Amino acid sequence: MPNALYDALFEQHRGSSRPYIFKPDGTSITYSDFLAMAARTAHALVSCGVEPGDRVAVQISKSPEALALYIASVQAGAIFLPLNTAYTPSEIEYFVDNAGPKLVVCDPASVDALSPIAAAAGAELKTLAGDGSGSLTDLAKDQSTTFPTVDRGPDDLAAFLYTSGTTGRSKGAMLTHDNLLSNALSLVDAWRFTEDDILLHALPIFHTHGLFVAANTLTLAGGAMIWLPGFQIDAVIENLPHATSMMGVPTFYTRLLDDPRFTQDLVNHMRLFTSGSAPLLAETHVAFEERTGHRILERYGMTETNMNTSNPYDGERRAGTVGFPLPGVSLRICDPETADELPQGEIGVIEVKGPNVFKGYWRMPDKTKEEFRDDGFFITGDLARIDQDGYVHIVGRAKDLIISGGYNIYPKEVELLLDEQQGVLESAVIGVPHPDFGEAVVAAVVPQKGSAVDEADILGALHDKIARFKQPKRIHIVPELPRNTMGKVQKNLLRDQFGKDFS
Ligand code: ATP
Ligand code: MG
Repeated sequence: MPNALYDALFEQHRGSSRPYIFKPDGTSITYSDFLAMAARTAHALVSCGVEPGDRVAVQISKSPEALALYIASVQAGAIFLPLNTAYTPSEIEYFVDNAGPKLVVCDPASVDALSPIAAAAGAELKTLAGDGSGSLTDLAKDQSTTFPTVDRGPDDLAAFLYTSGTTGRSKGAMLTHDNLLSNALSLVDAWRFTEDDILLHALPIFHTHGLFVAANTLTLAGGAMIWLPGFQIDAVIENLPHATSMMGVPTFYTRLLDDPRFTQDLVNHMRLFTSGSAPLLAETHVAFEERTGHRILERYGMTETNMNTSNPYDGERRAGTVGFPLPGVSLRICDPETADELPQGEIGVIEVKGPNVFKGYWRMPDKTKEEFRDDGFFITGDLARIDQDGYVHIVGRAKDLIISGGYNIYPKEVELLLDEQQGVLESAVIGVPHPDFGEAVVAAVVPQKGSAVDEADILGALHDKIARFKQPKRIHIVPELPRNTMGKVQKNLLRDQFGKDFS
């Protein structure tokens, strides 16, 4: 019986005694043991009343059991819906109410807060703790280690993933078996993953990066993962010598570079470092190569589209770019207003089409309609240009574009310049309401450790470097930029904080 995703990812490993997951304590779980764990969990889901097509919402810590719960959902034909562990009960209430799951699985510590929410939605509630214990595990314990995989076609839904909420309220992206499988196949190939790979996995698994880009790709290739509960620098440094590859968000790399133990010797043997989910500064790319001899491979994707572009494995990994469209992905740069495709080199919105692109936002038909062109291209909301050699350069989000006195200002251009200034570590540029100009450019600047930077000095230094209308009207010196768990700068929070600078 076919089940596109389960069959491709796991059926091939049935009976395999190769290691799949290395736990932080040094013990490992084989593919065979993992398949048995997932099968027992699939039986537990069924005994909670989960039927094919039902949603299973989870807010749980990262553990091998949590990954098995994802696979169990796929095997049982359910739709897996992981939620950010940082969400508060009132946020969870919104998601549970929105998604209408049959089952909610949470940490034992959240039972009191989430019981009434699950009950109001008519969902069962079970628990799963970071150490793998909980009422779901109790229920799974004595079940059969084989489960009759439920038939699912390529267009059936495998997961709802909520977007990161960087620009507003998170939206539930409906992802099919084929969306996930086609992307995993593409990435195994693009990044040369094989069964000899050991991936250091320190990403969260409620997000597309850790769950699909990392876990699906590695599983399809048949390699193993060092499964860390999160990015703890000591554990990462301790485990890098045993890994062949690591996938990270840019903050992983800046934190590693900040640590003197992170040396060329530690990672000389490694094959691949990838970065995504937020822009990797060209400066970090260069510093990483100077320290380690490795060039980070940056790629670009979204919850809605899986991965769209990647720098090449062989060939130049160009700093500050996200590379080329992946095979099977059509990508064009269009005028956001007219939707006309723009000539090469011009900045416009990225639109993509391909087997990787989702089916729409759950229960948001109007929003879904708005974000697709008539010819099926999805409007990503990211602004970019393509250089002469075909590399895609992301310049920011359309929602962050500043229009001041009728001129368009791309925050990234100003940020790159601010970052070059003496004593500046990083910066974020936003538009805030202004009575004369409509919007005014305002910057938040983080000084380097031990440096004192001054608003007037920076403004003075920018004076003859960029057009006056692009120069910030105010610079706020801040200790750090607000970032979410994926390391994305939350410009909406900066706009809340500095939005009244001129009103
Ligand atoms: P929301 O859609 O809820 O506002 P979000 O867009 O941050 O949140 P995700 O789907 O997690 O939610 O992130 C996708 C976005 O992340 C992309 O649209 C893009 O803006 C950004 N992104 C991902 N990879 C890169 C990259 N390599 N460089 C620059 N931006 C990136
Ligand atoms: Mg988004």
